[in-house]
Amino acid sequence: MISVAEALDHLFRLARPLDTETVPLLEAHGRVLADDVAATRDQPPFDGSAMDGYAVAQATPGQRLQVIGESAAGHGFAGAVGPGQAVRIFTGAPVPSGAERIVIQEDVHRDGDWITIGDRLDSNPYIRPAGGDFRVGDRIKAGRVLGPNDIALMAAMNIALVPVMRRPVVALISTGDELVMPGETPGPDQIIASNTMGLHALMRDLGAVPRLLPIARDNEASLKTAFELAEGADLIVTIGGASVGDYDVVANIAPQLGFDQTFYKVAMRPGKPLMAGRFGKAMMIGLPGNPVSAMVCGHVFIAPVIRALLGLPATQAPRLRAALAEDLPQNGPREHYMRARFVDGGLVAFGSQDSSLLSILGEADALIVRAPKDAPRHAGDVVDYLPIR
Ligand code: AMP
Ligand code: MG
Repeated sequence: MISVAEALDHLFRLARPLDTETVPLLEAHGRVLADDVAATRDQPPFDGSAMDGYAVAQATPGQRLQVIGESAAGHGFAGAVGPGQAVRIFTGAPVPSGAERIVIQEDVHRDGDWITIGDRLDSNPYIRPAGGDFRVGDRIKAGRVLGPNDIALMAAMNIALVPVMRRPVVALISTGDELVMPGETPGPDQIIASNTMGLHALMRDLGAVPRLLPIARDNEASLKTAFELAEGADLIVTIGGASVGDYDVVANIAPQLGFDQTFYKVAMRPGKPLMAGRFGKAMMIGLPGNPVSAMVCGHVFIAPVIRALLGLPATQAPRLRAALAEDLPQNGPREHYMRARFVDGGLVAFGSQDSSLLSILGEADALIVRAPKDAPRHAGDVVDYLPIR
């Protein structure tokens, strides 16, 4: 059995970053920028007014100036401003030549074509210099997940098409004679496929494109059909059938169908019977079927793999630290991901950590990460955890 860290290393070696594609700016939100992009213009492209007021060559309190024209956003003033003159100007409008400052309209008294500058004249010129925001060639670096602020900046840079990493297509294959889809009517011996749906949501959150395949039954022909339907996926994720029971089709049969296994079994709790390798051109991860095991493996392994496929740094799921609100007993021999919730700012692990209990996962805020054989911990001790809300 290998450690969680070793399993992650294997997974990162299996996860080859995907190719790139170009999308319209409005579809770039949430995508990973694949190449640097550069501004195609200066912003602002001219010296612009920061306020509504009057553009003047110079101003002193009490001075009278003649208003000779107007500069509005989108409609500049063609001429020049000389001594004794002013041009009515609005925010975002080009500052006419000859003007050195804007006198805000609150600081003048207007009478027809004349203004008189008041006593309260501040020293701010209220001019935004050309290129003060960015200049032609200024770059946004590849490798960032694009958010709303990046979209706004790229728009200002006049970048209408954005090079991004292709989204990984993830085929999700549930296995089990006992499973039906949510909304169906289960037979007396059946349950609803659940973690598959949770993993689908997780994949979407991560920027992948999940493909929910029909449930594979616990026989070779059905599993074979499912793998055929997974054709074209970048990552195949099977759920269940990963142990060594008679009906564990993934562990028993997938190798004969083309699964080239890199590792099997990880020293963790929950999630021990995890496997991974390649299946044809795709990467494959075989998850244990127990609902909590599958979801925890989703957070601990699949999320970092999706990020690596997207060209983001190959690192473990980000951990935070918080104090325990209650004692924890000595840990067993496997790395333990304990469902816990925050009570008054401190972490409390749930009493039952059975890997079938989705209700407890649903209530959990965090997975406390405990190293193999971690010594007993006391209330107040600071521990690592994965945020899962
Ligand atoms: P298995 O690894 O196939 O033996 O599954 C272990 C446990 O997880 C069994 O109780 C299965 O019924 C359950 N299980 C397997 N796959 C799923 C699934 N997709 N959704 C919910 N439970 C599952
Ligand atoms: Mg099964």
